Amino acid sequence: MKIINNVVKLKSNSYIDFIDLTKDVEKFVLQSKIKNGQVLVYSTHTTLAICINESERGIFADFKDLLCKLIPKETYYRHNDLSIRTENLVCDPTASDCLNGHSHCTHFLMRNSEVVPIIDGKLMLGIWQRILAIELDCSRDRTVIIQTMGV
Ligand code: ZN
Repeated sequence: MKIINNVVKLKSNSYIDFIDLTKDVEKFVLQSKIKNGQVLVYSTHTTLAICINESERGIFADFKDLLCKLIPKETYYRHNDLSIRTENLVCDPTASDCLNGHSHCTHFLMRNSEVVPIIDGKLMLGIWQRILAIELDCSRDRTVIIQTMGV
């Protein structure tokens, strides 16, 4: 069995930015020459989700509206309360991008990775399925691991 690791570096634009990774994943699967197996698409972040869904602007806007209602940015989060928070304070505590309690809460409800079967050298995505990275924080540099494994 072969295991091939690829790294995708990207920069998201804003909160709830949808980035379609499908072409990158297809390219790495093709390059791997693996005919049967699976590919893992994995976010190395706590505020960047990986989800398979349709790539369509209407559903993207609908989902953003839903998240803003479910998990509003402008409410109290202990993660943002620097008078009580003592852990993982690596960022500038006065910087607004440190105050991302809503981003972590959203990520808990979503997925950090997706796995897609490879059969006869092809990704087994349905006709409308796309592999999406979804930014849950502000614009950031991001890293996604794409691990292809099989024979
Ligand atoms: Zn945080």
